[in-house]
Amino acid sequence: MKYHLITLGCQMNKSDSERVRTVLDDMGFLWTDDEKDADVLGILACSVRQKAIDRVYSRIHRWNQWKDDHNLLTFVTGCVLPEDRIKFLKLFDFVFTMNELPNFPDMVKQYGVVSPHAIGTGDVDDTPKGAVATEPPAALASGSTVISLDALVKKPDTVEREVMADLWKVDATPDSDFAAFVPIQNGCDKFCTFCAVPYTRGREVSRKSEQILAEVERLIKRGYRSITLLGQNVNSYGLDRPDTEMSFAQLLSNIGQMARLAEKPFWVYYTSPHPRDMTRDVIEAMAEYPCIGRQVHLPLQSGDDRVLLRMNRQHSMKAYRQSVEIIRDLIPDATLFTDIIVGFTGETEAQFANTLKAIDEFRFNMIFVAKYSPRPGAASSRWKDDVPHDIKSERLQRVNDLAIKYSTEWNQRMVGQVYPVLITGVDRKKENMAGLTEGRVNVRIPGVHRDLIGTCVDVKVAEAVSFCVMGERVGVPVTA
Ligand code: SF4
Repeated sequence: MKYHLITLGCQMNKSDSERVRTVLDDMGFLWTDDEKDADVLGILACSVRQKAIDRVYSRIHRWNQWKDDHNLLTFVTGCVLPEDRIKFLKLFDFVFTMNELPNFPDMVKQYGVVSPHAIGTGDVDDTPKGAVATEPPAALASGSTVISLDALVKKPDTVEREVMADLWKVDATPDSDFAAFVPIQNGCDKFCTFCAVPYTRGREVSRKSEQILAEVERLIKRGYRSITLLGQNVNSYGLDRPDTEMSFAQLLSNIGQMARLAEKPFWVYYTSPHPRDMTRDVIEAMAEYPCIGRQVHLPLQSGDDRVLLRMNRQHSMKAYRQSVEIIRDLIPDATLFTDIIVGFTGETEAQFANTLKAIDEFRFNMIFVAKYSPRPGAASSRWKDDVPHDIKSERLQRVNDLAIKYSTEWNQRMVGQVYPVLITGVDRKKENMAGLTEGRVNVRIPGVHRDLIGTCVDVKVAEAVSFCVMGERVGVPVTA
């Protein structure tokens, strides 16, 4: 029996999907690239944009039509708002939160479905292989309870923290054998007015540091070259349990010390930190340990204090500036990435001009810019979306123009220098190898040499183009 998963949204969902795969693999299901060929179909949903939720609906309607032809089991998990969860219960066989994932095999069994391993182990040896119950017992018609909004926004108690910890005991089945994500935290306490994450993932829960360090150690031993620590606010790590857990800076230092015992070099990244919690000791840890990649992704969202206040970002431009000054002072070679939203509700031309000024001041290497659109479930979705669409498009273009300018300026300074580059794959044109420097600058090397994927090679930069440099490989690979 086979399964297929569709993962929408951010890296957090991608990381979660690696754990879903482990559970399904352990149940004896086999992955298939072809969703038509699958007996189990699942979606890791994203509620950040209505478009992503619309994709869930279109998929499940199609899958439910396929049920007329063959037996099929469907589920949805990931970032789902409570009101969508209620609607999904009528459409999917299972709707569950990620912290319920370890119970998924039991849910399936109670539903009357026989997984391949259950047959293999003789648990239900009188059931024909591949059988899927078409009529679930009435009392078990859904794999989930509906979690109320109140339950999601209240601080988790000790028991709920332990339940979350069970999810993190599930090993990931990484897509890549050289780059991995390691979740260190789930949920968010910040309640930015444009964001629905606190209502879909609940409040912040930090994963136990001993579990994180053990997972990172395993990845290092297996030769992983790039490890990204994931969370909605990675640098508030441990603040939910200050008496018993280490801080984010201490976590980075612990990982930094592991590099001394590693056989192969590796880079560790983290995303996303929140400007409010960007303390000096985090930057000091980056400066001290060479394995912590020289790249900081610090979301700004707006360069205007009044807009930041309406966004409930809980930091000012002054505080952001101080963080950037410390980064430039302690790790001057670090690249700086950010996120910007243009056309947030009520954003005036003068307020937008402050965002442009901030970009001129901080000279970001990379800007992930988005036009504001109300996100269902977020506080600002109740406010008038009053910046016209064409103004948003024009503002987005102006941010993009500056992003190209500053990225190209930085990249031009790289010309003539040699950098270690992690080769990540073949580019879209299928003409060059694609890779990343330690600062996550995109690199292209002419020619297709698939054997280099996952290795680190020295590249001499020959030319700077928008958001990318072209270069030639020099010397031999750092490792074969
Ligand atoms: S910090 Fe703000 S934008 Fe980030 S997940 Fe939390 S609420 Fe959303």
